[in-house]
Amino acid sequence: MTPTRTYLGVGWRLCAVAAALFMAARAPAEHRPPSIGIVVNMGRYDSAAEAAGDEANVRWGDIDATDDTICTQCFAACELRHYLCQMTGLDEDQDANFPIVDDEELLEGDLILIGGPDGNAVTRRHAADLGLTQAGLAALGPEGFRIKTTDAGGQRILVIAGGGRVGTLYGVYAFLEQLGVRWFAPGQIHEYVPRGALPRVPDMDITERPAFVTRGFWAWEDRGNDAFIDWMARNRMNLWCDAQSNHPALKKRGIQLTCGGHRHQSRFINPRDPYPYNHPRFVGDEDKPDDPYPVGDQYAGDVNEDGVLSCSEAHPEWYGLRGGKRSFNIRGGFGDNFCTSNESAVTEFMKNFVQDFIDGEWRDADSVNFWMLDGGKWCECDNCTTLGIPTDRNLLLVHRLRQEIKKARLRGRLGRDVRVIFLAYADVLAPPTRPLPPDFDYENCIATYFPIARCYVHTFADPSCTEINERYRSHHHGWAVDPNRHYRGQIFIGEYYNVSRYKCLPIVYAKVMAKDIPYYYDTGARHMHYMHVTTGNWGTKALTNYQMARMLWDPKLDIEALWDDYFSRRYGAAARVMRHFYDTLEKALCNVTVLKYRLARRLEGNSAELFTDRHMKYEQYRPDTDDGPDLVEMVRYVARCRKLIDRAEGMEVPQRIKARIAEDERGFAYGEGTIHLFDRVVQATLADRAGNADEARRQFLLARPYADALKADTTSTTMSSSHANESNAFVASQITNAYARLEKRYGG
Ligand SMILES: [Zn+2]
Ligand SMILES: [Zn+2]
Repeated sequence: MTPTRTYLGVGWRLCAVAAALFMAARAPAEHRPPSIGIVVNMGRYDSAAEAAGDEANVRWGDIDATDDTICTQCFAACELRHYLCQMTGLDEDQDANFPIVDDEELLEGDLILIGGPDGNAVTRRHAADLGLTQAGLAALGPEGFRIKTTDAGGQRILVIAGGGRVGTLYGVYAFLEQLGVRWFAPGQIHEYVPRGALPRVPDMDITERPAFVTRGFWAWEDRGNDAFIDWMARNRMNLWCDAQSNHPALKKRGIQLTCGGHRHQSRFINPRDPYPYNHPRFVGDEDKPDDPYPVGDQYAGDVNEDGVLSCSEAHPEWYGLRGGKRSFNIRGGFGDNFCTSNESAVTEFMKNFVQDFIDGEWRDADSVNFWMLDGGKWCECDNCTTLGIPTDRNLLLVHRLRQEIKKARLRGRLGRDVRVIFLAYADVLAPPTRPLPPDFDYENCIATYFPIARCYVHTFADPSCTEINERYRSHHHGWAVDPNRHYRGQIFIGEYYNVSRYKCLPIVYAKVMAKDIPYYYDTGARHMHYMHVTTGNWGTKALTNYQMARMLWDPKLDIEALWDDYFSRRYGAAARVMRHFYDTLEKALCNVTVLKYRLARRLEGNSAELFTDRHMKYEQYRPDTDDGPDLVEMVRYVARCRKLIDRAEGMEVPQRIKARIAEDERGFAYGEGTIHLFDRVVQATLADRAGNADEARRQFLLARPYADALKADTTSTTMSSSHANESNAFVASQITNAYARLEKRYGG
């Protein structure tokens, strides 16, 4: 599963080769060699642009992938041409510049072939020279790719071919990266495109495949904009949500759609829904299909006498036994889980579930988050309890759902595959107590581990974080590390780089991610997302998302090289100052969990003791374990950040770099104001409690300008999910009541 080469290790050498091929100035037009041609199979289309733009008419996910491949690979060709024109300064409107031709045409000069021997006739002709076989490509997986150059009688030919269509697209992006192109954040201002001529096809020999199978974000709202979706694909991120509009645009870019949550039982075995079959003992439902299920011994007819037989009336025994009674309490995502040992209930639930993948709301979904009710209670009947603890029972349901999906595929009812993602969280956090079914599909059933509100002062594996991360480590150990564990599958890590109470603060995770992601990988994680990503206006958050994308592709990459590359290309002459700024900002805000989940709540609740954690005191404090930046240190760090960003803003750099620094500054100002507000509100509160009204007033008056500036900031807390957004940055501080109390006493 590891990539066969590191991202930047060999990459730098190849970049040097590419740089040699770039000519500083373009040759005069009359001496210019013919532009490099791009060859792709256009199928029935007249142009690659037409094929690339026709995603709405592609039947994504049916058995025949030909149309899918033509669309994505033509899109790859168009992306390639766009950036080659940008790099070389050639007019994109002139077809002769990096012309794209169909694989049926003959073209002189150097060529870039898009796609493997199966889908591209020219690749097929040169396959032996290139040492390329379709089977060899397929072995790289659907997202792996080969980039290889060969000499064919003076004509240089470079092929970019994936194990599947998405691999080909990723190969094009990787090729452009080799030439120096970067997409650090959504939008053109955040692209880095080097300038120079490209008279010949460069010499490359690259094989890559992703280390993490799933890379992206957990979302459930239609909030992705075009620039964000482009950024995801270009950085080879492949997970977004089914709730997003314009599914074809995502499918084209290899972005998988996930769905699901806690509401499955409301949708597929709702006790209040009319029973969908002709129950043998009920009169008035004779027009319904034959009842496939045996009548239960608890049948009591239309109990509420509304003339309709509901599911709970037809089969009370389908629902969870709680305190000796069947409970029909399934409302939205909450309540009591159904009786999962009842074969008829499970059959009906699964039948409706799989049907939804075929022609229902989730007909485009590539994976499902199969979660039982949120904090739901489990059935207490004898048959259920003999199946084990809730985790054991949950895994049996997961296994069953996966079997039903496979069955539907075998029967040709479902064209695409659907992975089943389940929880290791809340009621099903304890690891399984008994062996899983021997044919449990470990490839496609994956446990998600969510360390919500974990500590980022310390890495996940750091044993010195006993107050916060220790319990997460021990849960994770039971699922992923313990040599005697029953679960032997992959882990899906659900990180929280913008957990709801952080409210889009400009937190930097560079150093903690550099340790955590390889640790996750080494302990079996092959999937990772985080919740509430912002879809634009990233500022310094660009590094979190960019580094995450790169590290999920290759967790063993040279991280120092990645940072050097990020800062030098993104900030030019301001790179050194900005790197210092990011480093300091990471220290300033890494204790954010204690700040927002603990201190803020204590301030709001007017708790007698504000600083109960070793992680954070007011004054500097150095315990043996659980040491984190204390509030006075956080204030010092943001003051240092302010000096650094001011210095960077005063530097002579090109306009686009100025714009990036200005965006960073705006995001930082939100974090800076938040820390100062906390500091002054704490000091005022403590002085007030000590009976020192003058000092309390003085501190409050120092807090006020920060509060006012935060109130005026209505952009920093947007572009995330509804949970992590806020109307303004002051409300986002979550200490508005503490502030109001002081205002009442000292604001006059
Ligand atoms: Zn039961
Ligand atoms: Zn910690």
